[in-house]
Amino acid sequence: MPFAQYRKKTRQIHVGPVPVGGGAPVAVQSMTNTRTEDVAATVRQINALEAVGCDIIRVAVPGEEAARAIGAIKKGIHIPLIADIHFDYKLAILAAESGADGLRINPGNIGGGEKIQAVAACAKDHGLPIRIGVNAGSLEQDILDKYHGVTPEAMVESGLRHIGLLTDLDFHDIKISLKASDVYRTLAAYRLMSERVDYPLHVGVTEAGSLFPGVVKSSLGIGMLLAEGIGDTIRVSLTRDPVDEVRVAYEILSALNLRRRGPEIISCPTCGRTSIDLFSIVEQVEEALKTSRVPLKIAIMGCVVNGPGEARDADLGIAGGKGVGILFSKGRVLRKCAEADLVTELLKEIETFEKNS
Ligand code: SF4
Repeated sequence: MPFAQYRKKTRQIHVGPVPVGGGAPVAVQSMTNTRTEDVAATVRQINALEAVGCDIIRVAVPGEEAARAIGAIKKGIHIPLIADIHFDYKLAILAAESGADGLRINPGNIGGGEKIQAVAACAKDHGLPIRIGVNAGSLEQDILDKYHGVTPEAMVESGLRHIGLLTDLDFHDIKISLKASDVYRTLAAYRLMSERVDYPLHVGVTEAGSLFPGVVKSSLGIGMLLAEGIGDTIRVSLTRDPVDEVRVAYEILSALNLRRRGPEIISCPTCGRTSIDLFSIVEQVEEALKTSRVPLKIAIMGCVVNGPGEARDADLGIAGGKGVGILFSKGRVLRKCAEADLVTELLKEIETFEKNS
């Protein structure tokens, strides 16, 4: 199936070396949940996120100590870092001076023209983009009154207001997000905004929840927009280890044939013919290949009778029997192995493929 379906053309910006919008691959973002001033823990988490494919990381900057820590964090990481700031323009300037690659700040919330001017001038001097993040939970009162509540139109008007404050200063390195915690408002707000502006859009469903609701809401919200060509960077929000956010983000991109990283692992749902612990085998293989970049389709099937045939298009696969299983490729049996060795044998084959490619 072809990659890179229709994408809405947006203006390209750069977050550090990573291009966003303008035809660049959809970038995957996440956010740390360590205390930013704890440099060692933050660096460790960012490197774990980079290992699973995070392109851009955002850190909360609630105070001066966190802003100053950015310099030390940057020395230990390899992906661009965005400083997330609320209200205090001095923190934005300090974060920029400490080496942040981008700022997430809403110009309408920092109080007054001079402060906005100072942030925009500082961002320009350092070549940093600014992400405006409209959140359904914190819209301006006059906009809420005008629209009688948090509607997609209200979110877009708030976004346009923030954008106007920067474009009036001839600042255009802008990226926008419009997050609501429900899918319908998120979809409607992004669709409207993408008709109004050509700035790149950072897409996500906020406060999506724990694993199950979070994956479903994010897959629908982010997935439907991406399928319509909307979205230049994405963030899956989950109440759990951010490494899982990145893994889910790639699953969404891969399911839409927009971007793939590492192997595609398919597995059968199991049935009455299964006589091995397929759940645990799948988990072992997924864990072992978590950071792998090898572009293989790997099938993990519950029985030797139907497994290889059902997964005929897999580059490599295993199918379990009773006591023995088989290793197969493109529907052909490669060899038999003891059931206990199936995972090890599969991983060896993958390693050989990786070495030869
Ligand atoms: Fe059942 Fe075998 Fe199909 Fe898995 S591959 S669902 S075990 S028939």
